[in-house]
Amino acid sequence: MTRACGGSAGVDWQQRADVVVIGTGVAGLAAALAAHRRGSRTVVLSKATETATFYAQGGIAVVLPFTDDTVEAHVHDTVIAGAGLCDEDAVCSIVADGARFDESAPGQWALTREGGHSRRRIMHAGGDATGAEVQRALDHAAATLDIRHNHVALEILHDGSAVTGVLVGNADGIGVLHTSSVILATGGLGHLYSATTNPAGSTGDGIALALRAGVDVTDIEFIQFHPTMLFDRNGSGRRPLITEALRGEGAVLRDARGESVTAGVHPMGDLAPRDVVAAAIEARLRETGDECVFLDARSIERFGERFPTVTAACRDAGIDPMSQPIPVVPGAHYSCGGVGTDVYGRTALPGLFAAGEVARTGMHGANRLASNSLLEGLVVGGRAGREAAGHAYSAGAPMAKIQPAQRVALDRGRVQQAMTRWASVVRDADGLNLLIDTLDDAAPRTMVTRADMEDVALTLSARIVAAAALARTETRGCHHRGDFPDTDPAQAVPVSVHGTVDGGVALVEPAVPVAR
Ligand SMILES: Cc1cc2nc3c(=O)[nH]c(=O)nc-3n(C[C@H](O)[C@H](O)[C@H](O)COP(=O)(O)OP(=O)(O)OC[C@H]3O[C@@H](n4cnc5c(N)ncnc54)[C@H](O)[C@@H]3O)c2cc1C
Repeated sequence: MTRACGGSAGVDWQQRADVVVIGTGVAGLAAALAAHRRGSRTVVLSKATETATFYAQGGIAVVLPFTDDTVEAHVHDTVIAGAGLCDEDAVCSIVADGARFDESAPGQWALTREGGHSRRRIMHAGGDATGAEVQRALDHAAATLDIRHNHVALEILHDGSAVTGVLVGNADGIGVLHTSSVILATGGLGHLYSATTNPAGSTGDGIALALRAGVDVTDIEFIQFHPTMLFDRNGSGRRPLITEALRGEGAVLRDARGESVTAGVHPMGDLAPRDVVAAAIEARLRETGDECVFLDARSIERFGERFPTVTAACRDAGIDPMSQPIPVVPGAHYSCGGVGTDVYGRTALPGLFAAGEVARTGMHGANRLASNSLLEGLVVGGRAGREAAGHAYSAGAPMAKIQPAQRVALDRGRVQQAMTRWASVVRDADGLNLLIDTLDDAAPRTMVTRADMEDVALTLSARIVAAAALARTETRGCHHRGDFPDTDPAQAVPVSVHGTVDGGVALVEPAVPVAR
């Protein structure tokens, strides 16, 4: 039976836990394992079995000993990619912790290199199936934990000064998990757009949960578009990624006339940073009116062996990458910003932690360096788990009160259409204002189902992306403004957004209401 969670309506079930983790990707499971090892009664919620972690292709960026690599070099590459907005202390802390992974597993690693890295430091598995192996290993390690699939976190409950629980929807209706420690590990928000490399559950839920609990979100205008997502005229939702390692191995980007897409755009040509290549493709498509460009990978030897995931995705779409160029377009891929945390995953609300793609530690700044996200999820996830366990013991067991949960939402099709049209690879003020006008049509919605929660989260996430993108009147990292094509040194500061009591959003500095 399901029941609306509005007003003072009762709930269908209530339970207690020391620590509740929301998410079963790399960050959630790393956190849950760490909390469990500290002796905490840990419950892990997931609305689905699919994670972005599973789909990771490239690998994990790690500095290994006895190589020519150093923590300083990895920090340097990360900070350069972040275009002036990384928190260098956070980067140092996370990269240095990642460099200890090998201590428990010495051996010979097959390292590769990706865009922006000055060394071969990307650990990978199964050719281009790294994420599947990471997910498999974590699932195996977490097999004895209390993991509950098809459980949707609808609301973080708090008493104004600390977390008291989580409101959850499942097959038994609406329930409350009373707890003093909650870890958001809900992943990204790629489904703000009509097509994305992200799995179906990447709908910005953690962003919405945090904002509604009074926690600010930072750097959210920096959404990384991967230049090469497999194109299909009728394709929407999750679309296969065509890894940039193909370009590293010699594949070239051409338009329908056979002209190079990146010649004259950047000295590194097709291997320029992701945002540069994505913007070059977007510009070429506008110029020619074509629907896609092509990645010609026919020169790569033993293609099927090195890139089994890409080969399978192409074959599913009726393309043989060994004899045909692959049709590609830029696709929404990664949220560089998110819920503001320190490097231990702590947010401004005592008892609320965040880790993985949903969080903003300061590691990625304005642009994430390839393969740094699995690293961040593992390191900060583990730390957040330990912190949450410690907090649970010091805070004791709270009794949560149910809070009203009627929110506004627009149907996701409209959000996705508007975001795709006005807040994609290149944005400008006219488009962003039209986006905000569209989002103003959002109507009250009582959250009962997963779909309700996701529509509400997508609508709120779209609002804050629009607000932050409008406020940043420059081009920096993966935020490209058509009307402000240059980087403005005076804007080398993060933009933060908070939720207002009436359900709107406002920029923290200056505190100007941006969406009506
Ligand atoms: C195609 C692809 C390739 C990539 N390749 C790489 C790579 O090579 N290297 C790299 O470092 N990064 C890569 N990334 C990025 C990286 O995979 C992700 O950033 C990372 O896996 C995110 O992990 P996470 O634990 O934060 O979230 P996810 O793995 O996405 O897990 C999110 C979890 O939260 C749950 N959830 C969400 N909302 C709710 C809710 N309301 N209630 C309950 N549960 C909820 C979901 O069900 C899921 O279990 C890639 C991403 C994609 C999409």
